[in-house]
Amino acid sequence: MFERMLKKVLDANKLLWKYGLVTYTWGNVSEIDRLTDYIAIKPSGVQYDHLSWDDIVVVDMDGNLISGKLGPSIDIQAHVEIYKAFPEVGGVVHTHSPWATAWAQAGRPIPCYGTTQADCFFGEIPCTRKMREDELGADYEKNIGKIIAETFKDKDPMAMPSVLVNGHGTFSWGVNAKDAVHNAIVLETSAALALRTEMVNHGVMPLDDIMQTKCYYRKHRKHGHDEQVMSE
Ligand SMILES: [Zn+2]
Repeated sequence: MFERMLKKVLDANKLLWKYGLVTYTWGNVSEIDRLTDYIAIKPSGVQYDHLSWDDIVVVDMDGNLISGKLGPSIDIQAHVEIYKAFPEVGGVVHTHSPWATAWAQAGRPIPCYGTTQADCFFGEIPCTRKMREDELGADYEKNIGKIIAETFKDKDPMAMPSVLVNGHGTFSWGVNAKDAVHNAIVLETSAALALRTEMVNHGVMPLDDIMQTKCYYRKHRKHGHDEQVMSE
């Protein structure tokens, strides 16, 4: 019944592995069907090289199991909160990819030092606030999603499709699972370049606003908004 959706989510999860964004099982991709609000996501604890399409799990917006023989990723509630907060989002990725996670662990947003980042992200890539003790209980994963939504209360999530979770890792999103993975890959490359840029020049300044604006709109408006979107 869900075969096409499961195969798309499997392929997107395998891309995380292919591009070196995950170690062991520390990452997951989901995609939502906005007609049913069913979410397909990687199962918990399965190695990427052992993953097949019928291992992918389908849940509803409350996290109830709709289809699958395994349990969903433990991060499912964070994915759900992102889908609830950002109605345009069709796919979500969570990783501990090492360069971006270094910034998350430092609690620092990633300044935009070059066009690699500016082409995909409009401005500096934000970092969430630290979690409070009362947010670390049974609703921990749900609260991660809520804090991401809080971080974006004045931001357009489609112009800034990634966030650093303070002391933890990354979330990225897009119009579908594959597009979300694309943004996670650009995030990781941007994080590596930014850190190396600061090593080469400790006093480096971000790219001028006018240049950042030029880059972003060149990619997103010239041939229509979807130029950078990864199709299915
Ligand atoms: Zn994590």
